[in-house]
Amino acid sequence: MQVPFSNLPAQHEKLHTEILEQWRNILKTGNFIGGKYVEIFERNFADACETKYCVSVGSGTDALRFIFLALDLQPGDEVIVPVNTFIASSEAITQAGATPRFIDIDPNTYNIDTTRLPKAINSKTKGILAVHLYGQPADMEAINSIASQHSLWVVEDACQAHLAEFQNKKAGSLSVAAAFSFYPGKNLGACGEAGAVTTSDPELAATIQKLRNHGQSRKYIHDIEGYNGRCDALQAAALTIKLKHLAEWTETRRKIAEQYRKELEQSNAILPLILRDTYSVYHLFVILVQNREKVIAYLEEQGISTGLHYPIPLHLQEAYSHLPYVPGDFPVAERCAEMLLSLPMFPELTGEQVSYVSTKVIEALKIYA
Ligand SMILES: *Cc1c(COP(=O)(O)O)cnc(C)c1O
Repeated sequence: MQVPFSNLPAQHEKLHTEILEQWRNILKTGNFIGGKYVEIFERNFADACETKYCVSVGSGTDALRFIFLALDLQPGDEVIVPVNTFIASSEAITQAGATPRFIDIDPNTYNIDTTRLPKAINSKTKGILAVHLYGQPADMEAINSIASQHSLWVVEDACQAHLAEFQNKKAGSLSVAAAFSFYPGKNLGACGEAGAVTTSDPELAATIQKLRNHGQSRKYIHDIEGYNGRCDALQAAALTIKLKHLAEWTETRRKIAEQYRKELEQSNAILPLILRDTYSVYHLFVILVQNREKVIAYLEEQGISTGLHYPIPLHLQEAYSHLPYVPGDFPVAERCAEMLLSLPMFPELTGEQVSYVSTKVIEALKIYA
């Protein structure tokens, strides 16, 4: 049996007619940038996230960068960010003029270890970037309460967490502003690059609307210098169609996760812990295993593709060699980075495939434990 890590063609197969019909309309008008398709998507996505505003942009990275620019970071300012995340989380902080302040993760949820927050905060700290990694919201109750004690803002990196919930509130509505990515492989993926900011703050929304469009308030009236960071109409139209299916796809991801849990219960893989009060959308299903390279090779031989998210924590990346971090600074993330293994996880996986992957993981762990 072959089990790919993801299968986008299968997801789009049933949507071809609907997407192509909208794209034909756009081709006929030539309105590729801005316009009604973009506005409709923004309205629908803001509703889905239970926020007042959604500002669509060119990518999740744009979304993060524009949020930090709108928050007016100054050289020397620090933003706290966990070391186990995609580099876009910290790139955006640097590109907005500040410095990432790395922090370790919780060994059970892989999200920010909130017990370490008080020690990471100093006079330069301006805010905290809460990354909802693998689809599970970070502990926003603890993060928001520590932040408010120190007069810091909180931003969400919700790029892996479309429709996730914490205490019955949607990811994207749990902080001053949130960044979403619609990179094709995300839970809600475009047919190209796209992203969005959600917020209920009218001033932030207005600033980010300007930032994505060269600082314009009206055509050729530039209030500030901005960027070319818009979401185009073709992406917006496809996203509106796909958004209608997202709740159902998410439920299927959760069922797949349940099946993995049941089948892997007796194995010696460590399974992800889901916090009480959270609704995880399982962008990824990440387990911890010993002898990972051998396990990966064994699974590959059996036709199963896996992923690594992420193999090197940010503080050990060459890109951050100028920052004062050394191996051993974040022992939990460093240990997890050597053990974590992402199993196939996408809504079109069949129960049979999940069983097959689980059986082969158990076999591999018996041989290499
Ligand atoms: C995908 C992702 C991003 C960046 O999104 P792009 O759309 O690829 O720019 C940022 N943060 C996290 C956690 C992501 O998974």
